[in-house]
Amino acid sequence: MHRTAVPQSLPEFLAAQLGRIERSNQLRRRRGFSAMDGPRLRDAAGRDLRLFCSNDYLGLAAHPQLRAAWAQGVARYGVGSTSSQYINGHSCEISAFEEELAAYLGYPRALLFGSGYLVNTGVIDALVGKPDHIISDALNHASLIDGCRLSGARVQRYAHADLAAAAAALAACGAAGQRMLISDGVFSMDGDVADLPGLAALAAAHQAWLMVDDAHGLGVLGPQGRGSFAAQGLGVEQVPVLTGTLGKSFGVYGAFVAGSADLIEYLAQVTRSVIFTTALPPALVASLRVALSLVQQADEARAHLQGLIAHFRAGLAALGLPDTGSQTPIQPLLVGSEEAALALSAALLERGFWVTAIRPPTVPPGTCRLRITLSAAHARTDVEDLLQALQQIMR
Ligand SMILES: *Cc1c(COP(=O)(O)O)cnc(C)c1O
Repeated sequence: MHRTAVPQSLPEFLAAQLGRIERSNQLRRRRGFSAMDGPRLRDAAGRDLRLFCSNDYLGLAAHPQLRAAWAQGVARYGVGSTSSQYINGHSCEISAFEEELAAYLGYPRALLFGSGYLVNTGVIDALVGKPDHIISDALNHASLIDGCRLSGARVQRYAHADLAAAAAALAACGAAGQRMLISDGVFSMDGDVADLPGLAALAAAHQAWLMVDDAHGLGVLGPQGRGSFAAQGLGVEQVPVLTGTLGKSFGVYGAFVAGSADLIEYLAQVTRSVIFTTALPPALVASLRVALSLVQQADEARAHLQGLIAHFRAGLAALGLPDTGSQTPIQPLLVGSEEAALALSAALLERGFWVTAIRPPTVPPGTCRLRITLSAAHARTDVEDLLQALQQIMR
């Protein structure tokens, strides 16, 4: 935030700020759409586009069984939950989903939240405060960063994925206060997977509590898509605080924290972002229960997705474009400047592909990119067409 020495009127302040954002090519525009069916949609200008930047990794957002579950839920409950879970919003769909989700993850208990942003900000604030220490990866998601700020704890950010730097930060904490070590499981803008066994060993050595946000690993990695912790052979012992969103590979909306029975009981007592907010609508949660069973059974979709990832990376290499090494559906194409990212996005749009340009503050300055994402709902020909478009544009 830009600050001035003398007070400005609100209109002066707004004009100055908007001018600054526009001059740096960081103005955000929300492209509208009027119809959507998985990765195919029609934008507000009436163009039919193929989507390559959503987080619908398993292609569940348009699944007929989820549409039906939601519709049946509406017939049974109506559309709203009408209050917080602590007043009258705790439908039996929520308790059933929490139990089913915990069993799937192999965790003792889980607690449902409105969104990943709410779960990350709320859980960090509930667990640590002013005298405590947070050790946080430099590329952690904004919701984790905001949770750190909200908590008031002392925050040390370590260089991305640098375990030696994390160890040094933990060693520097001193004797007073709790220590919390926080990382994305799969980094949202680069697609790389955190070394969770390494982080768990550090946490154990320094008596720190490890929290992992697996927004992009859930559904995609590990046995039955249980996530990056399961893919690396870990569970509640090593990752005592696990969060994830249900708006990405689950294809719906919502989020959760999973942990020991006492962790969840404590969080259910004190976490402001679940207590002071309206519960998710019961019909939505009914569809989440079906999404969970579909995610569990989605081995074929996961295998197809891995095939698309390999195909896309091989295609990038054939075009002489840099391969970032990401083995997840998140395939960033780094171009550097805001202008270059906007131009590439616009050129793809002309050819029928929707891939939004990612700019600061979502990513560090100078690392603007197209964050291309693949979905099991894509066919091999979709990926080939995208590669062909990239070839035409980059030539
Ligand atoms: C998307 C995302 C979130 C936020 O989840 P929402 O349910 O969309 O609020 C949190 N963490 C990471 C790493 C994410 O990518």
